[in-house]
Amino acid sequence: LPEQEAFNIEYWLLEEAKLQRMPKPKGLAGRTALVTGGAGGIGRAIAARLMQEGANAVLADIDQASLDAAVADFGKLFGKDRVRGIAMDVTDEASVIAAFEETARSYGGIDIVVNNAGISSAASVEDTTLELWNRNISILATGYFLVAREGYRLMKNEGNGGSLVFIASKNGVSASAGASAYCTAKAAEIHLARCMALEGAPHGIRVNVVNPDAVLRGSKIWQGEWRQQRAASNKIGEDDLEEFYRKRSLLQRSVYPEDIAEAVYFFASDLSAKSTGNFLNVDAGNVVSFTR
Ligand code: NAD
Repeated sequence: LPEQEAFNIEYWLLEEAKLQRMPKPKGLAGRTALVTGGAGGIGRAIAARLMQEGANAVLADIDQASLDAAVADFGKLFGKDRVRGIAMDVTDEASVIAAFEETARSYGGIDIVVNNAGISSAASVEDTTLELWNRNISILATGYFLVAREGYRLMKNEGNGGSLVFIASKNGVSASAGASAYCTAKAAEIHLARCMALEGAPHGIRVNVVNPDAVLRGSKIWQGEWRQQRAASNKIGEDDLEEFYRKRSLLQRSVYPEDIAEAVYFFASDLSAKSTGNFLNVDAGNVVSFTR
């Protein structure tokens, strides 16, 4: 929309009349999105939402079997030409560079990058080995850096702007006992986004963050050790975890992968054309409730 000095009813009536006559365009038609961890719970929901709005999707993930399954599903839903799966390790610079080269070859460039690939790890500081610390930093902080840098370089060279969206965590803004390496890496992701927002602005490249709270449904990280540790530290059964997080939230609602996907669509699309360097907690009010 053009800049306006004040609300002008004639302007809005004219716009509304124009909209009524136009076929509804899809928000991301003709754009290309690369989603890391695109074969995981939240990543799949994000890719589906962006594709629903017309984007081509490149799913980049280290898990080849889940990747093949996701690409087959999306091919059936949206057409084979609109989805690619690329086996990629976010900690391996050469593999990240190759993924963006392949994306550019397949779709002519990149408009949206979603930094989402991740792991979870639960350990108190005294039990955190250097290896565990380095694994968190390398996948979550360094991995996000490598993917963001390559996406940014490609967008800047193309000169059409773009949107980078990082899936960090509520744990990146509020502290959590028993997961300090994970929390520290998530905080680093948020700060990287802010720094990149400053550098990207002159090139029309926006960088924003979505912070989920516990998303149990569909998430692979909630199937193993993390699940057991969280249940034990909250003194509840593993099957009671979803209800526990729902009740803990201010809104008394569970957060699902689709809720995260909706927030990503907002930041990926022109709906958020005037937002950069921001984060949005999709946490059913959990972060603010810590300040009560
Ligand atoms: P998930 O395990 O279902 O998906 C993560 C995906 O990342 C997997 O498909 C995995 O194969 C991939 N991956 C892991 N290491 C990789 C690597 N080195 N290179 C490339 N791909 C790799 O988990 P999810 O819940 O969908 O998590 C997605 C993101 O959301 C993560 O960054 C996570 O930290 C964040 N998050 C999740 C929750 C939650 O409760 N599920 C809460 C806050 C933040």
